[in-house]
Amino acid sequence: MRSSIFILMLVVIGLQACVPAEKESPKIGFTVTPSVETKPVKSVGDAADDPAIWIHPTRKEKSLVFASDKQAGIHAFGLNGKEKAFYPVGAINNIDVGYGYMLDSQKIDILVATNRTLNTLEIYSIDPRNGLLRSITSEAIFSYANEVYGVCTYKSKEDSQLYAFVSGKDGEIEQWQIQNQGGKLVTATAVRKFSMESRCEGLVADDELGFVYIAEEDVAIWRVYAHPDSSDDYFLVAGIEGNPKLTAEIEGLAIYTGDNETGYLIASIQGNSSFAVFERKAPYPYLGSFHIGEMAGIDGVSGTDGIAISGVNMGDAFPNGIFVAQDDRNEDSEGKLENQNFKFVKWEAIQDSLGG
Ligand code: CA
Ligand code: CA
Ligand code: CA
Ligand code: CA
Repeated sequence: MRSSIFILMLVVIGLQACVPAEKESPKIGFTVTPSVETKPVKSVGDAADDPAIWIHPTRKEKSLVFASDKQAGIHAFGLNGKEKAFYPVGAINNIDVGYGYMLDSQKIDILVATNRTLNTLEIYSIDPRNGLLRSITSEAIFSYANEVYGVCTYKSKEDSQLYAFVSGKDGEIEQWQIQNQGGKLVTATAVRKFSMESRCEGLVADDELGFVYIAEEDVAIWRVYAHPDSSDDYFLVAGIEGNPKLTAEIEGLAIYTGDNETGYLIASIQGNSSFAVFERKAPYPYLGSFHIGEMAGIDGVSGTDGIAISGVNMGDAFPNGIFVAQDDRNEDSEGKLENQNFKFVKWEAIQDSLGG
């Protein structure tokens, strides 16, 4: 009798122990819809890859979404999805925007890009009036990686320098410091190199908190200190092993920066066409995952490579910001396959579902 009560107590204790663990386990799943899709990219097949948002300095509604066609170059789209420009500059894999770089005593915004045609880091100035790109590198900046993949900018609060992180097919990570080269030209110097164990593409830096996040596609999201003098110790943000909602490959990474260091780190999970949301700060609790469904003649999103987020009010179309995702399978309103493109989601659709 006594022993059976004891066993019963153990069972009850065991059950109680299970309850909080289940409560903590992630269960938010939701679907949002796009309000805009871009014109299809230039190249047929797997071509659209990575978007980057540029905020116009004075007229926010004139902001642009740059996007790579990894076979042909860089598109510039307006917030209505229409094409503003196309730059046939080669096999541009990933891109990112950096703000406030001092060049020739003028503060400019830049776009960085990884170009697989020559295995280079490309740097363009963005014209503040109309968003036009102009190459400003004094000479080709060749990566040491076997094949360049990802790129992101990092503006250091510590030394005010602008850096670019580049990831490579074999897990190489390089940190480049962008430097004036006289007049309106720049170059970049490799200031740090380290290596992950397998292929990395998605990269994003948190300028405010001084971290860079790395997507090791088949393994995990890692966090590293972004300043070049820091240690290369990496911190596990989230691994594929241990979270059934994360399946290979982990592709694009993007950060939504809220007030007081709040916000989200979002990863595109190509393997199950979802987007996984984590808190912006350690220990990076997993908040849930969402999909992008179809809406009023715009098809849903699957097999995403790159993503981008901005929380800036860009006028009536995107008053609380924008989430941009590449779509692997772009269909027209009759379901006919077209070249790949990018979908735009109003940020509040995501924020509301997250309960913000
Ligand atoms: Ca792809
Ligand atoms: Ca990709
Ligand atoms: Ca689609
Ligand atoms: Ca479509």
